[in-house]
Amino acid sequence: MIFPLDKFKTLETPFYYYDLNVLKNTLEEIKSNVSGVPFKVHYAIKANANDRILSIIRESGLGVDCVSGGELNAAIKAGFDGSKIAFAGVGKTDKEISAGIDNDIFCFNVESLPEMQVINEIASNKGKTANVAIRINPNIDAHTHKYITTGLNENKFGINLPQLDDIVKATLAMPNVKLCGFHFHIGSQILEKEPFIMLCEKINELQDKYEKQGIEIKIINVGGGLGIDYNNPDSALIPDFKGYFDIFKQNLKLRHGQELHFELGRSVVAQCGSLITRVTYVKSGTAKKFIIVDAGMSDLIRPALYQAHHKIENITSAATDVDVYDVVGPICESSDCFGTDETLALTKRGDMIALRSAGAYGEIMASHYNCREFPQSVYSD
Ligand SMILES: *Cc1c(COP(=O)(O)O)cnc(C)c1O
Repeated sequence: MIFPLDKFKTLETPFYYYDLNVLKNTLEEIKSNVSGVPFKVHYAIKANANDRILSIIRESGLGVDCVSGGELNAAIKAGFDGSKIAFAGVGKTDKEISAGIDNDIFCFNVESLPEMQVINEIASNKGKTANVAIRINPNIDAHTHKYITTGLNENKFGINLPQLDDIVKATLAMPNVKLCGFHFHIGSQILEKEPFIMLCEKINELQDKYEKQGIEIKIINVGGGLGIDYNNPDSALIPDFKGYFDIFKQNLKLRHGQELHFELGRSVVAQCGSLITRVTYVKSGTAKKFIIVDAGMSDLIRPALYQAHHKIENITSAATDVDVYDVVGPICESSDCFGTDETLALTKRGDMIALRSAGAYGEIMASHYNCREFPQSVYSD
């Protein structure tokens, strides 16, 4: 990625830099892989709800997937039509459900029987019928970090398979909800094909079973989870969407008239964003050298939260020599560390550092911890 260094040098750090061409090319690649098939993609807004990013995604024609009332508001404010909004989450409050019904959203992804009952009741009070999908927990191990795997029986999400019949039956008996779909989301940052193939097979089984019972399901929603290459962002700026969508084209047996929905977050926005920070000090310890930057876990929490690693680049050093450093933030937590034993160009105070692939779960997770200000956003245009 080419950074506009002349412009950067005049700016206060830290800030998120978004390359909008990367975003647009990513969206084009998604669109070209779902044209001609009944596939619909919702952007999982929790990955990044930045205004500019949202408006470009909306213009590209994607729908949106929300997991809270706040996200629902953000989606409406960004101009997404209710008919393109899916709403998931294990703990939707009455107020959030009410807002979803008022906006005539496309579908609630429902995660428990009590939630289904509450949606039915609130819809009934409003004299409406709410579209619902049951979020099914297919008990598939996504082989990802334990904090971002969601499809195992021990996870809090979704309905476990042994309980599915009962909730399907109960839902069909409720007058103010319409069962439109089955929803799945097995985890995030999934880099292997196997978990997605297993998901397709599980869905095929379920479809056979419910078809025999004469239960018609219009929408299959397989959630998100496609991973990105954090180690080599420049050679994989656009994730392998063809490989991803082909898995579903080849393994999932859609019925006539069915739509297959996706909820992609990370893979849409991660590579277009970088967190840009300045080196405040280079400090020599006994056995280590530390680069202390002016961004911290309050700006980008993924390393502290999930032991994630973002590629670190010194984007202003002219040195051809390298050294080995730990790159840390200023916050009073030992987990405020972006990388250990990083080989970087010789670095000095004032150099600018890019933490790459930070467009997803970066800015949106920023906090005021240590009374720090939120990072700014800067766009390539
Ligand atoms: C987080 C989430 C997504 C998006 O996941 P990514 O890994 O970012 O693609 C999709 N659907 C639901 C229900 C989610 O919670």
